[in-house]
Amino acid sequence: MRFQEHNYWRTTVDFPGTDACCPLPEVVDVAVIGSGFTGLSAARTLAKRGAKVAVLEGETIGWGASSRNGGMVLTGMKLGISKLISRYGRERTKQMYAASLASIDCLEQIVKEEQIGCDFSRCGHLEVACKQKHFDDYERQAEIIEVEFNHKLRVVQRSQLPIEIGSSIYYGGMVDEVSAGCNPARFVAGLARSTMQAGAEIFEHARVHSIQRDSRQGEMGWKLATAQGLVWAHEIFVATSGYTGAVTPTLQKKIIPIGSFIITTEILPKALAKELSPRNRMIYDSKNYLYYYRLTPDGRMLFGGRAAFFPENDQTIRRSAEILRRGMIRVYPQLRDARIEYGWGGTLDFAFDIMPHAGEMDGMYYAVGYAGHGVAMATYQGQKIAEMMAGDQPENPFVGIPFPGAPFGLYNGMPWFLPLAGAWYKVLDWVS
Ligand SMILES: Cc1cc2nc3c(=O)[nH]c(=O)nc-3n(C[C@H](O)[C@H](O)[C@H](O)COP(=O)(O)OP(=O)(O)OC[C@H]3O[C@@H](n4cnc5c(N)ncnc54)[C@H](O)[C@@H]3O)c2cc1C
Repeated sequence: MRFQEHNYWRTTVDFPGTDACCPLPEVVDVAVIGSGFTGLSAARTLAKRGAKVAVLEGETIGWGASSRNGGMVLTGMKLGISKLISRYGRERTKQMYAASLASIDCLEQIVKEEQIGCDFSRCGHLEVACKQKHFDDYERQAEIIEVEFNHKLRVVQRSQLPIEIGSSIYYGGMVDEVSAGCNPARFVAGLARSTMQAGAEIFEHARVHSIQRDSRQGEMGWKLATAQGLVWAHEIFVATSGYTGAVTPTLQKKIIPIGSFIITTEILPKALAKELSPRNRMIYDSKNYLYYYRLTPDGRMLFGGRAAFFPENDQTIRRSAEILRRGMIRVYPQLRDARIEYGWGGTLDFAFDIMPHAGEMDGMYYAVGYAGHGVAMATYQGQKIAEMMAGDQPENPFVGIPFPGAPFGLYNGMPWFLPLAGAWYKVLDWVS
């Protein structure tokens, strides 16, 4: 199979230029590490509050997961509702669910306020059941979510499924009309532009190599050594997600970087695109080793999954593209002859408890752990933690929950157990 090993979304947008000659400032109020949704959203909020902010990006703007994802702006969290209630209790789970809805409003509000042309649309999402028992559970989940959170999901019987999807392999589905879709590269580029307009400076190719506690003119802060030189900051916001490295070792040990991969077809005939996804939903299935897919605004099928658990490189992208194409044809035999034009990968950030976490660690602020639900939540957490840094006390149910590391401390930041985790997920999909 021949295709371009390249992120299709990035072909649809020009990223704003940063002034490569502009030297790093000597002192800033806040150094934000990472220029994805989390970092930019935080920097934008802080700059609007009058803070002097430098965003330090090791690569280029939006280089990480933020420009590479499926663009699904989803309600809820990765973990199911019953699991959340049993772990955190009803009240905290209610707040978490409400935050997931508020995160979509937050993203929509930024898109409107900053006039970001990123094809944002409240098209809804469809979850499809790979087994009868998964479908049987949908009724129960929809009921809990309606009773507990006053949020309506619609269960779709197998006989009604053709209204939603042109595939006959599923046992039924569940629709949430509140979810949305967007072009993530356009969104992150627009977010960067608005962050700069708010007064923050973004420095590309400015990887942070070390961070040290330091005092300056009697004030405590941080000295950051970057590929572009030194900068002294009163506060640090770590927004490095699945790319978190040894520069923040405590955080690195709590985050498992997991590869996720995507292929896109050529632009499909309009009638075929309509047949595959009549309501243009964001779609994902009920497996642990799941597939997620959608039409792009120009009418390609974008099909993603955790085909290899390891982060992206030439080999994992190639191997994953083959696996994903086979998966796509199983779902949609109509795409047997469709040409695959692009394939790429990116790295997700999973915490050991599969939850988002945010707050303060080792004296630095952070927000991580979106587990594939980060488009809206990363944007929201960036804003909320920035508000907290500015002295507000915003409600944030993800601050202060236990943030577990690996059992028995068996993890030093090198995810040696990923093949085992991948195999374990496959086993779970056979038996559950
Ligand atoms: C293939 C794929 C599909 C996905 N699909 C979806 C989806 O459909 N819906 C959804 O909600 N979520 C999805 N996600 C998850 C979502 O994209 C992420 O949760 C979100 O983008 C995280 O944003 P972020 O800003 O926290 O991190 P990132 O966008 O990953 O940014 C982190 C940045 O930190 C930089 N960095 C790291 N270390 C340093 C350092 N030392 N110095 C300077 N810079 C550094 C990196 O270069 C990187 O640019 C997907 C992810 C992937 C990979």
